[in-house]
Amino acid sequence: MNINQLTAHEILGLIETKKASPREVHDSVLRQIQATDKEVHAYVRVHDAAVGAGEAGAPPVPIPVAIKDNICVTGVETTCCSRILKGFKPPYDATVIRKLKKSGAVFVGTTNMDEFAFGSSTENSCYGPTRNPWDRSRVPGGSSGGSAAAVAGHEAIWALGSDTGGSIRQPAAFCGVVGLKPTYGRVSRYGLIAFASSLDQIGPITKDVTDAALLLGIIAGYDDYDSTSADVPVPDYTKALVNDVKGLKIGIPKEYFVEGIDPQVKQAVAAAIDVLKKCGAAFEEVSLPHTEYAIATYYIVATAEASSNLARYDGVRYGLRRQPKEERKSPLIDMYEETRDAGFGNEAKRRIMLGTYSLSSGYYDDYYLKGLKVRTLIKQDFDNVFRKCDAILTPTAPTTAFKIGEKADDPLSMYLSDVYTISANLSGIPAISVPCGFSQEGLPIGLQILAKPFAEETLFRIGYTYEQNTPWHKKRVSL
Ligand code: GLN
Repeated sequence: MNINQLTAHEILGLIETKKASPREVHDSVLRQIQATDKEVHAYVRVHDAAVGAGEAGAPPVPIPVAIKDNICVTGVETTCCSRILKGFKPPYDATVIRKLKKSGAVFVGTTNMDEFAFGSSTENSCYGPTRNPWDRSRVPGGSSGGSAAAVAGHEAIWALGSDTGGSIRQPAAFCGVVGLKPTYGRVSRYGLIAFASSLDQIGPITKDVTDAALLLGIIAGYDDYDSTSADVPVPDYTKALVNDVKGLKIGIPKEYFVEGIDPQVKQAVAAAIDVLKKCGAAFEEVSLPHTEYAIATYYIVATAEASSNLARYDGVRYGLRRQPKEERKSPLIDMYEETRDAGFGNEAKRRIMLGTYSLSSGYYDDYYLKGLKVRTLIKQDFDNVFRKCDAILTPTAPTTAFKIGEKADDPLSMYLSDVYTISANLSGIPAISVPCGFSQEGLPIGLQILAKPFAEETLFRIGYTYEQNTPWHKKRVSL
């Protein structure tokens, strides 16, 4: 096996015993990118020697990491895969980047994504789609599809993504890797270009649960620069990596196994439940009664916040600026309109219009305010279940990776593919996706585990136990 197919913790072991050097690891990743990225297109920018300084005292973690194109890195073009941000080079590092630099990380490149993280397939990128390494006629999921494809395709050892409604977990499931959305506030959002500020979280995309625990340990923690980051101590997450789920009670929400779920996904999740039962976990059917309102609620709250966050792209401060040939209204208004029309793609425009509508006077109470109320009910559903259960288990997505183009002209069916992931964002709770098998066509399937706020350790414990008793996390795509 090539070194770039190993996990970060395996590579750190080799580096420690001098069986490999950080340079060799980086080179093997760059070779893979050269050989396959023309076709996979996980990256929009590749750097060849950007290495963090490391910190005196702590052992460095010189692991090649891929960064989603919405996380600011000083001097590195960061565009959210939107024409409107072309040429924007942030003058500062996101807090997660500052922490990674301190850890000695090796920055491989910037990964492809749906424009402003609007989407579930990475097709809404101004740079064109990413392809799923397991089947290049299919999408990698989205919006962090580039990061998931890079890790699955051995073009990075691990990666950062962002998750507003499933954008880490769903691509992780489609690409057969691990993806974690931390508790809201666990990781600083400073320097993450905002989509929906009350839902966004940065998190790890890795080859196994151990790596997810390691990477979360590096990026988590309170930050003076993000008032919504939580002042909660960061535990040593690796201590939660135990092969033992005895005494844990896990809920299975009955609303998640109804129509629309692919029978092969259902079967893989049922098999995962059996594995964890044999390991000593207790299962119980539970109810999350407001699940049927989750998609509508999310697409009201998320688009409202997005329309407001995207108001800043006016051609004055960042990226693109356009002026029409002839004057229409006034030079300034013309410039705003021309820039926004040329700069935003169709999905971004759709979301700006939806969000502006639900925030407008006369509709605010009926849509946005009602959305916030239902959001509270959805959160209460989880609170109720977590009074008696330690965790909840569901599929990550209702289907496996779909074909490129299959849902591109049908936004509603694309939105429906988020049905299992968005409730965690609306409730602020942590959730992880781990590989749990393959369909007959050889496409990866993801298992989602959810827990109480700041109970990432429960996710790691269950995910690790599951890995120790199944082969899925060891399957590598051959490219
Ligand atoms: N697919 C969802 C959407 O399109 C989630 C995106 C995300 O988490 N960034 O909004």
